[in-house]
Amino acid sequence: QAKGAGRNIYRFFEPEMGVAARTRMTLELSLRRALGGEEFEVYYQPRVDLKTMTVIGMEALLRWNHPELGQVPPMQFIPLAEERNLISPIGHWVLRQACRDTVDLMRKLGRPLRVSVNLSARQLRNSALPAEVQAVLDETGFPAPLLELELTESALVEDIEHSAHLLRQLKDLGVKIAVDDFGTGYSGLAYLRRFSLDVLKLDRSFVMQKESHTSHFDFIKAFVDLAHALKLSVVAEGVETDDTLQFLCSTACDEAQGYFIARPMPLAALIQYLRSPSLLSKQDTLSFN
Ligand code: C2E
Ligand code: MG
Ligand code: MG
Ligand code: MG
Repeated sequence: QAKGAGRNIYRFFEPEMGVAARTRMTLELSLRRALGGEEFEVYYQPRVDLKTMTVIGMEALLRWNHPELGQVPPMQFIPLAEERNLISPIGHWVLRQACRDTVDLMRKLGRPLRVSVNLSARQLRNSALPAEVQAVLDETGFPAPLLELELTESALVEDIEHSAHLLRQLKDLGVKIAVDDFGTGYSGLAYLRRFSLDVLKLDRSFVMQKESHTSHFDFIKAFVDLAHALKLSVVAEGVETDDTLQFLCSTACDEAQGYFIARPMPLAALIQYLRSPSLLSKQDTLSFN
């Protein structure tokens, strides 16, 4: 749904359309302004460990609170930011904010939390990325093993040699690497073995097919086992129903995130959520085995 809307807006911005081109330019100018101002905000979506049903971390998701347009979804401005070479400074801002917020959160709650941050393909092309990540870790005092960087399959395979090299440098910093939206590309597990990876995030479309389809269930189960044999942990994305959550619990899938567990939320709401004793009380009524 969000993706579809993003595509429509994007099509609306064709260069040959005069008005659209102007709109696009306006958006680009305000994107530059946003970077220097207070319009960007990081939302956090909790991630749950399926064995303990506790929140062990969250994904940082960028939000743009545009003064006239309201909240512009990432699918509408990330492609533009990539095209206009604004994604690296924006990505750097998100990383810093996510590390700062999570350090703060860990102090408040007195327990470790992992945070995952999305990186675009463009950022992976930037050889200065490992140094930039290290600088953020130093500046914020964030523990490297608790930081996870998410990259899509297509970003990784764009330039395999370079990606593999940069990933090794990032791994040397002690951070974790996750493949985002896994199952939407074509490369597959065997292919991805050449990269030093830690986590596979199963795409929502991949997770959702299941329910009552025994073969899909067996498939996911076998897939998780294979990932484990390759020393990768598996996170299911886009869990929208209790059925899906139950199904995942009966596989060896490690973690889950999705609207059924919690939606992405501002930092203040996340603090409340993590402090709430009724956390995941919905799931308490379900039996897992
Ligand atoms: P993603 O990294 O795959 O993030 C998951 C997206 O799925 C998020 O959309 C999240 O809100 C949404 N989602 C989570 N649970 C559910 C669910 O149960 N059902 C459904 N239908 N959706 C769910 P969001 O926040 O709109 O972000 C969209 C994409 O934009 C992200 O996909 C990511 O590719 C990109 N993005 C977001 N923040 C950043 C960022 O800081 N940097 C970069 N480079 N990309 C970002
Ligand atoms: Mg992601
Ligand atoms: Mg994803
Ligand atoms: Mg996605």
